[in-house]
Amino acid sequence: MFINKNELEFSEWWNKIIFEGGLADNRYKIKGLFVWMPYGFSLMKMVKKNWDNLFEQNNISELYFPLFVPQEYAKQNESWWNSFKEQAFYVLGYFDNEKKVFLRPTGEPAMYPMFSLWIRSHRDLPLRVYETVSSFRNETKSTKTFVRDVEIGPWYEIHTVHSTREEAEAEIELGIKMNDIIFDNLAVSRLKVRKPIQDCFPGSVGAIEFYTLLNDKLVENASCNNLGQAYAKAFNIKFFDENEKEQFAWQTCTGNGERFLSAIIGNHSDDKGLVLPPVVAPIQVAIIPIKISVDEINKLNLDFSNLRVKEFPVGKSIGDVRYKTEKMGIPLRIEIGPNEISEKKAVLIWRNGKKESCLFSDLNKVVVTGLDNFQKDLRLASENEMIKRIKICDNKIDAKKADIAIIGWCGSAECSDWLQTDLEKELIGMTLEKKKVKCLHCEKDGEATYFSKSY
Ligand SMILES: [Zn+2]
Repeated sequence: MFINKNELEFSEWWNKIIFEGGLADNRYKIKGLFVWMPYGFSLMKMVKKNWDNLFEQNNISELYFPLFVPQEYAKQNESWWNSFKEQAFYVLGYFDNEKKVFLRPTGEPAMYPMFSLWIRSHRDLPLRVYETVSSFRNETKSTKTFVRDVEIGPWYEIHTVHSTREEAEAEIELGIKMNDIIFDNLAVSRLKVRKPIQDCFPGSVGAIEFYTLLNDKLVENASCNNLGQAYAKAFNIKFFDENEKEQFAWQTCTGNGERFLSAIIGNHSDDKGLVLPPVVAPIQVAIIPIKISVDEINKLNLDFSNLRVKEFPVGKSIGDVRYKTEKMGIPLRIEIGPNEISEKKAVLIWRNGKKESCLFSDLNKVVVTGLDNFQKDLRLASENEMIKRIKICDNKIDAKKADIAIIGWCGSAECSDWLQTDLEKELIGMTLEKKKVKCLHCEKDGEATYFSKSY
């Protein structure tokens, strides 16, 4: 994991890693927008496959809503509107200028007025859908590719509607489980927190959020929001229950997207470039012919079944090719030349520097096992880094020193303001365990809460 306390230097490194690794080109002339390069987009697609499969397995149907949202929809939910109206992009030149229209910053105001038309009876519930889209926010903060962008996409958002509170709560648990599976495949450790109500998604009644490491800070990465009945009331989403009594529905929404890439890059890259976890790496193995042609390698009929392999012909310099595969973060490089052919052996050089050789006949087995271990090692390193940073603190001096401090907080806004200023950290959220601890500021009853710098 690359860490640089100097934010400017970290930013330079971040941009260089992404550009030289072939993920994105951010020289596009609008701040906060970038071009997805083919290699970056294939990595994103590998991650996206994770969520498409998971959602399909769990019977959540994919659909697609328009990018344009009429203001009259959004204004139905005052708290949503007040939170996003400053960040929204308004559409000029729309043929019906009376109808003010903006680009969606999130999906709720586009979807929920339609939900209210679709849902009539308890038999229409649960409604469980998702879309993968771009969202647009006019960012006033400084932008960072894959972390804070003006066009956020691909971004998945699951929206569910239920007849009971319990069903909605079970949906949140499922959302947590599915995000956990995705993060496992990225070999990334994460902190799960309960958001204090004042920091939740506008109008919601609770949220579980995921945070991952980035430099010396944390970054919010996926959130599962319990919307209670607030949105149903605002958007008039009602149903007749089994007793023909009309009731407001219970809702949840869960989302994340390109920030998964920030988790991969932030956790695994080093000063040489990207390091991609094998489960989602678009190319798991780079084959490099040394002083022979790609054809000669193909004639060896090596067994690469169930592996994502790509040949990298050597041009002028073998060094350049090695360097390139390192920057792309390909987990394994296999080099084969005349010597290897005569000995029927391949040289395996892993992205973490480990080197070994193996017989052509054992190649598939050795590579598959090696990739599995590579994934586990990345995961372990990421877990250790997270554990190393978290400190349970009972005084402000220690809490200020810690990267991620767990301290008691009573829940009051006044104390969180004081604590954030004194500790030079932000309130991240309460622990899932709901552990009782006295507030570090006012000493009243409180609970264990994470404080850390964050993006
Ligand atoms: Zn307090």
